[in-house]
Amino acid sequence: MTFEVLILGSGAALPTSFRNPSSQYINCNNRHILIDCAEGTQHQLRKHGVLFQKIEHILISHLHGDHFFGLVGLLSTMSLLGRKKKICIYCPEGLEKIIQLQLEVGHAKLDFEVIYIFHQFKEHKIVFEDKQIQIETFPLRHRIPTAGFVIREKDKEFRILGDEFKKAQLSLTAIPFFKAGKDFEDESGEKFSYLDYTLPPKKSRSYAYCSDTNYYEKIIPFIQGVTCLYHEATFLDIMKKRAKQTFHTTALEAATIAQKAEVQKLIIGHLSRYTSDKEHLEEAMSIFPNTRVAHDGMLLLI
Ligand SMILES: [Zn+2]
Repeated sequence: MTFEVLILGSGAALPTSFRNPSSQYINCNNRHILIDCAEGTQHQLRKHGVLFQKIEHILISHLHGDHFFGLVGLLSTMSLLGRKKKICIYCPEGLEKIIQLQLEVGHAKLDFEVIYIFHQFKEHKIVFEDKQIQIETFPLRHRIPTAGFVIREKDKEFRILGDEFKKAQLSLTAIPFFKAGKDFEDESGEKFSYLDYTLPPKKSRSYAYCSDTNYYEKIIPFIQGVTCLYHEATFLDIMKKRAKQTFHTTALEAATIAQKAEVQKLIIGHLSRYTSDKEHLEEAMSIFPNTRVAHDGMLLLI
């Protein structure tokens, strides 16, 4: 099953020729999710061939402009393109008013339903789940209320060994038992162990997004052991003081969080003020070697 993250914008507040402000598109088991929607997001989606109408969930971390100024434009385009299917937006409470005002003053209206689910900001919460995935929010520490996100595959089923199953000429009613990791007993009372007819489930994957935030150890339990962590690293450690004052993080601090949370890999982003990413990478890798610096257009296979 597909689990991919496409980085649409890897920059901080100031767009540069190389980096757009924050936005990411995620396909997790054919659930299509947009995280943050800065200015330029529509162009980036177009450039990378993402179909707008596939997006079902939009997660907005907070109401600094470099994380949502592209949203009304994207929603308007979806409507112009004939969207009828509802969309769910997980966001701070003020966003609904902002979008409505922008539409009202232009006498515009959307031809589809927008369902707003407001962040609680105080606790970890599952905000969406179905059979295959779940979306979680948790509080970060920034100048204004800000949420982090985890997108997680649910536990997977045991995989049936087709040949062994056929050879044993078992009833098809055994399949749900084996898939759930349970033994099966047929009508005559004969028992069959799931271990003889299955391979263990594939590991469930997870992706965490933490932008923007101070160095904040309280998030560690929520992102513990994730397959991939995207963490902001707006500054280098030499500017640690400035990072703290502006409620941002340094590359070294992001790597420390990754190490303490025992994640598998780290992607650092939300950087605009640097022309090269070499120092960010070196700094982070000194603590957490499996680090990469995000760039626009980067496709992560989770
Ligand atoms: Zn911010």
